[in-house]
Amino acid sequence: MQRLEGGCLCGAVRYRLQPPWLDAGFCHCRLCQRASGAPVMAWGSIDETRFAYTRGQPARFASSTQAIREFCPHCGTALTFRTSRQPGLVDFTLASLDHPEHISPQYHIWTSRQLPWLMLADTLPRHRHDE
Ligand SMILES: [Zn+2]
Ligand SMILES: [Zn+2]
Repeated sequence: MQRLEGGCLCGAVRYRLQPPWLDAGFCHCRLCQRASGAPVMAWGSIDETRFAYTRGQPARFASSTQAIREFCPHCGTALTFRTSRQPGLVDFTLASLDHPEHISPQYHIWTSRQLPWLMLADTLPRHRHDE
């Protein structure tokens, strides 16, 4: 499988993935909404040894006692999420990939926080919380 690359809006931070990734899904939680300024984020999950930065270094923010979010220090693009609940894994933002169409979300989590004006017609599994 080919490697996948991505990066932030300004180009200062770039990364590369070595497939396979593990899964991908939408997260409607309030932390993702605040971190992105968007109603929902789409994440892929991959073993951290298969994820590498190839240009620049992200800034890091502890968005909870168990999670770190990485983002471009220049333009703010959200790039990764790591949680002590999933040791060894890194989640990456699907929309920061150069070709986001290559990885499709397979489920929704935290739909208990889905905004009432966000209408989604897909038939993917929906979970009110994180499992
Ligand atoms: Zn940037
Ligand atoms: Zn979330």
